[in-house]
Amino acid sequence: MTNFEPSRQEALERLAQFVPIAGRQYATGRNTDFGPDAPSSVSKLSPYLRYRLLTELEVVTAVLTHHSLAAADRYVQEILWRTYWKGWLEMRPSVWTRFTEERDRQLESFSNAHTLAAAESGTTGIDGFDDYARELVETGYLHNHARMWFASIWIFTLHLPWVLGADFFLRHLLDADAASNTLSWRWVAGLQTVGKSYLATAGNITRYTNGRFAPVGLAREALPLTEPPIETARSLPAPARPVVGERSLLLITPEDMHPESLFSSHEWSKLRPNLPIDAAIVAPCANLLWGNGARLFVESAATDTALRTAAHFNCSANVSAALDAEILIKAANTASVRQIITAYAPVGPVADALARLTPQLAEEGISLTQIRRPWDEHFWPQAKKGFFHFKERIPRILSEHIIAEPLD
Ligand SMILES: Cc1cc2nc3c(=O)[nH]c(=O)nc-3n(C[C@H](O)[C@H](O)[C@H](O)COP(=O)(O)OP(=O)(O)OC[C@H]3O[C@@H](n4cnc5c(N)ncnc54)[C@H](O)[C@@H]3O)c2cc1C
Repeated sequence: MTNFEPSRQEALERLAQFVPIAGRQYATGRNTDFGPDAPSSVSKLSPYLRYRLLTELEVVTAVLTHHSLAAADRYVQEILWRTYWKGWLEMRPSVWTRFTEERDRQLESFSNAHTLAAAESGTTGIDGFDDYARELVETGYLHNHARMWFASIWIFTLHLPWVLGADFFLRHLLDADAASNTLSWRWVAGLQTVGKSYLATAGNITRYTNGRFAPVGLAREALPLTEPPIETARSLPAPARPVVGERSLLLITPEDMHPESLFSSHEWSKLRPNLPIDAAIVAPCANLLWGNGARLFVESAATDTALRTAAHFNCSANVSAALDAEILIKAANTASVRQIITAYAPVGPVADALARLTPQLAEEGISLTQIRRPWDEHFWPQAKKGFFHFKERIPRILSEHIIAEPLD
């Protein structure tokens, strides 16, 4: 059974094991789901990438050390789907707000409770769908193709609201992510690429589960859902810069749990000697995540992260269950610093919490600066249009800005 140990060491071991198969084997095998206990061609790195216990940069760098970009382009592209969704939502934050409001409205008013309960408990009688509902709850993970089938059956066969399906995933996936989850559900529903929905068919499910499932009675068409127009892409907020020379407290949230590499880009590494980090706080913000599995995962990863942070920055690093202004002000005062630095929090509950904290800290004369990694800085602005437009820019951005060595 899939088991995700919440540590960076585990993430690195998984990455090392996966790298040799990240080329052709991944490209040809990635669509098949042999089951939770069977060997798989996918990396199962998503919980580690979600909380950035592993960064996209180091995964892509490791893969491209072993394979050419041409050989591993499928895998690199999948990693960049995550980045694309992040950038897309960052430029249209109201899509997330619209989702949460519609979800809350549906949770209050949805009347077909019997079908909803059957879908969540895996008792609809639909072969495969029921198994995936149970697998999700038991393991906190589903294969990508299974997520697509599940979402399609939820929307087009069971006629359940997509926002409640997205909510079910958020409550159970270890990798639950505001951007990847919401926008993938929207994509299946036909809202994301307007007019283009995803229809799960019995033949496709049987083929790509190696004959494990043969559902009957699935919808034969998937009429795309519709919605009022969404906002056009706005510009990303300008990158923030900490005051160089100022002593700082480092705040680590579940949006980025690898502070060791936060300052390792060419640009930041020059500034780093003049940015002394005197103390760190790791705030797993479990209360801001949606499910118990994800909460336990980040709480455990927080202990691991605090140990690594203390060793890397040679400073004290404490875990704080809560993230509030009082705790940060106390920590800043104890360390005698007026500047708090944290990794940029993308659209979601942690970003909302930081937005609420910032003016409270400012009242005490403490600044909170969110710095963006070069990976996000270069890729996110390219997510204004569709993934095809974004994908075409990947090799140039990788070779010009991200990875020093020339790529073929
Ligand atoms: C309805 C639906 C909901 C989803 N919800 C989430 C979610 O909440 N969190 C999440 O991380 N992913 C989500 N995904 C995307 C994808 O299914 C998972 O990232 C992937 O299955 C994770 O397994 P893996 O690590 O073995 O992937 P691999 O195939 O090994 O891919 C490597 C990494 O690339 C990224 N990735 C791969 N495929 C996608 C994709 N289609 N979209 C975005 N990133 C991708 C992930 O970070 C993944 O770990 C969702 C997809 C669908 C269809």
